[in-house]
Amino acid sequence: MNDKAQYDVVVVGGGIAGMIAANRAAQLNLRPIVLEQGTGAKYLCNTRYTGGTFHICLREITLDEETLRQKILESTAGFVKPELAQVIAREGRRVIRWLQDEGMRFMRASASEYHKWVLAPPGRSRPGLDWEGRCGDVLLRTLEGHLDSRGGEIVRGARARTLIMDNGRCVGVVAQRNGTETPYYARAVFVADGGFQGDAELVGRYISRRPERLKQRGAGTGRGDGMKMASAVGAALVGMDRFYGHTLSKDALTNDNLWPYPYLDSLVTAGIVVDANGQRFVDEGRGGVYVANAVAQLDDPLSAHVILDSAIWEKAGRNGLIPANPHLEREGAAIHRADTLDALASAAHLPADALKRTISEYNDAIAGKRLQSGYTPSRQTARYDACPIAKAPFHALPMCAGITYTMGGISVDAHAQALRADGSPIEGLYALGGAAGGLEGGPEVGYVGGLAKGGVTALVAAEHVAATSSK
Ligand SMILES: Cc1cc2nc3c(=O)[nH]c(=O)nc-3n(C[C@H](O)[C@H](O)[C@H](O)COP(=O)(O)OP(=O)(O)OC[C@H]3O[C@@H](n4cnc5c(N)ncnc54)[C@H](O)[C@@H]3O)c2cc1C
Repeated sequence: MNDKAQYDVVVVGGGIAGMIAANRAAQLNLRPIVLEQGTGAKYLCNTRYTGGTFHICLREITLDEETLRQKILESTAGFVKPELAQVIAREGRRVIRWLQDEGMRFMRASASEYHKWVLAPPGRSRPGLDWEGRCGDVLLRTLEGHLDSRGGEIVRGARARTLIMDNGRCVGVVAQRNGTETPYYARAVFVADGGFQGDAELVGRYISRRPERLKQRGAGTGRGDGMKMASAVGAALVGMDRFYGHTLSKDALTNDNLWPYPYLDSLVTAGIVVDANGQRFVDEGRGGVYVANAVAQLDDPLSAHVILDSAIWEKAGRNGLIPANPHLEREGAAIHRADTLDALASAAHLPADALKRTISEYNDAIAGKRLQSGYTPSRQTARYDACPIAKAPFHALPMCAGITYTMGGISVDAHAQALRADGSPIEGLYALGGAAGGLEGGPEVGYVGGLAKGGVTALVAAEHVAATSSK
């Protein structure tokens, strides 16, 4: 029992995870407060920028629990904790219903299963950021209004830095605001800071030797405060080396119309990706999120090119709501084109002989159906067709890895309660959304879904505190 508790729940971070959790806590007669480091009315965070598709492993979020659970296990190739796969599969649909009850609207954005549950109004299908008055912005403003009417509060400009512990139990957090440090005592602390993608030192430690050569494909507001605070009080960290993101034009580093869309994933998964030596280094068939992680791990993450021919450019290049073709070129992305591979290599500053050998081996492996055996790195074709590079003009696009959020973080159980390395829970401490680890990542860089993760961990954490707190 924490005698000093001013609140039932202190929430660190006002993204989707923090705002759903605070509102759910208030619905359950708990007294929540949200500490948000951002200062403006429309403080930035990944939720503000989100594309708004509620899915689980790119499947429809309302599919039956067992299908979704299997899909999570398969996508994460044994990495996910089974109880986390189960809770996300079971509760994902409840997030949709809960948000609908809060007045949020969903729409179908395309015929694809992935686009069945998209927050309305969606972003307009155009390059660059487009968030004002769109789905994530409306969601946050709606939930803030509801929190206010439920008696909760959000304090802006408050950056949480240290957890307060009492006898192994988390009883509050100290936040910096306007140069002063204020303790907030509560029965439970919810860390919902969005991850550590915005901290170059942490990204350098866990993800890429050259963090400054990755493109921040999000708000960059997650600076790892949550994982640092939690690990300082004994929480285990899991899956720190993977991130959700996409492959982007290298010019996205300097041109804001080239991120977060269009991304290059449909080109990458149809053609090949080569390093500065003109050689493949990754299985492109594992998808754009996987390839973005591999590019980030290169000695120089800005040395990769995607190579394709005119047939790929005309077909795969036109896939998606904001396709690479024609948007990349229209927005000024560099694309090298040439009628011969020698000329292409020269334009892209790649070694011509090596590039020609790489392309010829690739085309031969497709023709001989040898992409999965005797071909290195092997190439999966279960999700994406590998297309030959044969029809001039040939294309080379300088690319970069866009990091949206880190998949790893604080180890949690099915109630989103933080765990020590020995698996015991830290009473009073929870990690939600992008702060929570153990669900996404692993050898296949399994992407489950940032919104589903944020929504489910928020609901279960608030409900666990309500069910267990002695008042
Ligand atoms: C362009 C884009 C498109 C996306 N599209 C999709 C999609 O279609 N589907 C999907 O599932 N996911 C998508 N995502 C990912 C998804 O939006 C995020 O995973 C999700 O919004 C994360 O929510 P969160 O609450 O965990 O973190 P955030 O929304 O980042 O919120 C964290 C908050 O914590 C605050 N904070 C950080 N540190 C502190 C501190 N020390 N003290 C106080 N406050 C702090 C931050 O300022 C921030 O406001 C997309 C992301 C982006 C950027």
